[in-house]
Amino acid sequence: MRKKTKTVHIGNIAVGGDNPVVVQSMTVNPPSKLEQTVSEINDIESSGCELIRIAVPTMKDASYLSMLKKRVHLPIVADIHFDWRIAIAALDNGADEIRINPGNFPADKLHRIVKLAKEKNIPIRIGVNSGSLEKGALLSPLALAESALRWAKQLENLKFSNIKISAKSSDAKMTIETYRLLSERCNYPLHLGVTEAGTAATGSARSAIALGTLLSEGIGDTIRVSLTGNDRTDEVAVCYEILRSVGVRNFGVKLVSCPTCGRIQVNLVKLATSVQSIVKKIKKPITVSIMGCAVNALGEAKGADIAIAGGVGYALIIRDGKIIDNVKEENLLVRFTEELKKMELL
Ligand code: SF4
Repeated sequence: MRKKTKTVHIGNIAVGGDNPVVVQSMTVNPPSKLEQTVSEINDIESSGCELIRIAVPTMKDASYLSMLKKRVHLPIVADIHFDWRIAIAALDNGADEIRINPGNFPADKLHRIVKLAKEKNIPIRIGVNSGSLEKGALLSPLALAESALRWAKQLENLKFSNIKISAKSSDAKMTIETYRLLSERCNYPLHLGVTEAGTAATGSARSAIALGTLLSEGIGDTIRVSLTGNDRTDEVAVCYEILRSVGVRNFGVKLVSCPTCGRIQVNLVKLATSVQSIVKKIKKPITVSIMGCAVNALGEAKGADIAIAGGVGYALIIRDGKIIDNVKEENLLVRFTEELKKMELL
């Protein structure tokens, strides 16, 4: 059963409580690269992202946030380190949430950031991670959890409780143990993630184990899968795959495709990659199956809304378990797309 946490509001998104687990990503570009950032955020949004974090490394970047806000729909989490004035400027320029590691700011300046966030009713995400623990602290789940909770206590002492917490590690097991402790010891919404998780293969695997385990235990209110790469829509796709796999949220296309083997007669890798890009923006929960030959294709197709079964030069298109067409391989993607349009999915 999902742990019921406090609800915080980030722009028009509610996080925690009974609200669905929110999918987050982070831009590659800073706000001052305005055009690239607008186009990047809009692209990430179209893949299903609901909350976007953006690094705000300079005062100039903070000043661009107000222009950025006018051009995008997603609530913006401004990520700020070391310079308290940037945090103040981000709040003044319309950030919907700020993510800080409070230990990076002098205590008297932290007080000013918190005061302004309170006046503006903007939540603060306390973001602790394994690379930035207090000096002298030995890295452990307990040290990470206690560091985050200590900062939460300091903000509470300043009469501020509009808080979300993350305490990330690059190790899946440590992430699981840290968040279990946090969930036991506080009621704040938790943002889950494995930091510096690696490239698509390692990052997806590590995140799936850590986030999947925690979500299965009812822990977690927002998630991000961090992958080394420039296309953040991949992170969003992995987030939804994890949520779907543990039965927490069913959103978008579940793609079933075979690994190929010696029986293969079509270029399935190319076909699956093309289909994945065609169905990427579908938000309705459907299953699409792409199989290389007839061995398992008809069985898999029974559980799919639409399926492709490869043959020799031709492929079958199957809808709801019934064969509806036998198409030449070179016409397959056009015919498949036409069928998705008939299903009002595109
Ligand atoms: S569906 Fe056919 S081609 Fe694909 S792995 Fe199974 S047997 Fe091989």
